[in-house]
Amino acid sequence: MLSIRLPRLELDDLLVQLERAGRRSVAVCEAGERRTADGLQLIYRGPGAIGGSMERSLESIVARGLRPLLVWWGRDFPPARVVQSWVGDLELAGSRRGAVLAVVEQDEDVVISGLVLDKGKVQPLDWASLPGPGMLRSRVWPLWRPPSEDELGGRSQQRPVAGGGAGEVAREGRWSRLQMAVGDGSMPRGQEVLKRAAELRAFVLGCGRAGELMVWRLAENGIGDQGALVLADSDLVDAPNLGGILPARAVGMPKAQAVSAISAGLSGHRSIIPMIADLGNRAVVGAIAESDVLFTCVDNAEARLAAAILCSRYGIVHVDIAGGAAYTQSRRVAIGGEVRVALPGSSGCVACMENADWSQAVGRLSMSADEQRRRRTGQRWWEQRPGSWHDVLLPVVGEAVQELFRVLQGKRRRSVWLHYAHGNEDLPVWEDWSRRLPFRSAPCRACSQDGLRGLGDLGL
Ligand SMILES: [Zn+2]
Repeated sequence: MLSIRLPRLELDDLLVQLERAGRRSVAVCEAGERRTADGLQLIYRGPGAIGGSMERSLESIVARGLRPLLVWWGRDFPPARVVQSWVGDLELAGSRRGAVLAVVEQDEDVVISGLVLDKGKVQPLDWASLPGPGMLRSRVWPLWRPPSEDELGGRSQQRPVAGGGAGEVAREGRWSRLQMAVGDGSMPRGQEVLKRAAELRAFVLGCGRAGELMVWRLAENGIGDQGALVLADSDLVDAPNLGGILPARAVGMPKAQAVSAISAGLSGHRSIIPMIADLGNRAVVGAIAESDVLFTCVDNAEARLAAAILCSRYGIVHVDIAGGAAYTQSRRVAIGGEVRVALPGSSGCVACMENADWSQAVGRLSMSADEQRRRRTGQRWWEQRPGSWHDVLLPVVGEAVQELFRVLQGKRRRSVWLHYAHGNEDLPVWEDWSRRLPFRSAPCRACSQDGLRGLGDLGL
């Protein structure tokens, strides 16, 4: 299967740039790639050059080991001979992998279709996913002919967010209340949002206190019910882990397995998949690269940084949550948490929000799971933080679920950092810390086009 991942915000930006460039309606862009068992996925990285010499731009992209991507934008499909000449240009530039993408405006809709050059062979593009606002994922139109009237009429069935399948999602009226809420009072709109929510491939990294609640709430909201809700943790349940959704009999079981079984039992979710492993495991990294959205519920900076890099490389929506009790500088105990949402194509990822120390974090990431466990057990956690509390995490987890729905509704159009704390007179307050964006003066190594953004497997 040949597919492309082009974050919605980057597509919007590209169309604006093309419009500004006036008569020129083709942009030379850079892409990374991901190889999977069933095919090739190209990942949009950013524009190469709009205007100037196409030949020179293509050559410079190929010389840097990246995949060239020609994006056409117009009100009609480009003529076949023009497409052929672009494929010829890709080949002339020495590219064995690249693509031509047509973005065509039809009525209110934007239709994507394309051709992929893979190992010198030209093949049609099968799927396009647009992570970010609306989270569209759609089978694309064949480029060699415009869609017929019949197909245009039936398009609503193929388009991921429009109509159809709602009966399936609203199983036994389970989500009828949620439907109206997420549809802003419109039942069909709510059904569209819930359908896409069910089709998502969501991944939850870490099944500690925050992670178990996150998995449970995602499951109760039907997230990934028809796609997947994958969770990973390599630890076993210990007595201090109880107090959330796990029963006492779960002590000694792998956390991922226990959280998966309980969440599935409570919610009736059909696609929860546990992985008893952490980020050091290649299967975990592979499954995250397959996902539409990653939730990180981890308690260490290095896992958070590695997750942010993965999301930036593969164009995945990243939701990072943390919370509990912490010491302030004056050793007071403070209650609160964070929800950070990084949208591909928007400035700011969790790595630059965290202001992470790369050299240290990378060193720790290369530790084996045993070493990491020894390091954790050797730590006297109560000196660093006074503890954790499910009831503090509940509002944080609830906000993270609502943030995901805002992305699906198309309302969330930039990365955000929401900070939760107890303020004056110990009253709970949410603050928008996104104003701190961008977090560094230098371009971020994870999310800038000069960094790892959109590289996919390239350069690994
Ligand atoms: Zn960043």
